[in-house]
Amino acid sequence: MGNCKYCGKPAGFLRGKHAECEEKHQQRERVIQGGRQRIALEILRAIKGSESFDSLEKTITEIEQSSFVPPTERKALLAKGWENSVEQFLEDGILDTTEEKRLTEFKERFALSQSELDRNGALTKTAKAAVLRDVLNGVIPQRMSIGGNGDRTIFQGPKAKKSGKNRRTKFST
Ligand SMILES: [Zn+2]
Repeated sequence: MGNCKYCGKPAGFLRGKHAECEEKHQQRERVIQGGRQRIALEILRAIKGSESFDSLEKTITEIEQSSFVPPTERKALLAKGWENSVEQFLEDGILDTTEEKRLTEFKERFALSQSELDRNGALTKTAKAAVLRDVLNGVIPQRMSIGGNGDRTIFQGPKAKKSGKNRRTKFST
């Protein structure tokens, strides 16, 4: 007699699972997968927007709870969402200062490390794009520490002027 790998109860001779437990498990997996995708979309939308990331954090928590996405996956999902945003921002070949600022704010808000964001080279790409933009604008680059050791800062947001008020942008869903 084997025990069901899902519910732990006897599953019958030479069986490792109940068909209905398997079915339930797969349904749950689909829900989790859907939750991951929704989180990815929310992150992308938040980075492309201009609001504070507080509401994003709330939304992610809600999705985690309703879709059984383990909170242990959050860091990886945040990093992935950041990478996706970089891809979209760089589709036109240019990382403008607003885009760079949002990426930096997100990185800092969720305490993502350089190595977490550079796993697939996305962080390096943004640094290069920022240097290129500066050069095109006639600014002598001062951030040439790409390839530096460890977690040294290679990605710095522009010293952008502070905008007086929090501008709010509405997004259609
Ligand atoms: Zn079972």
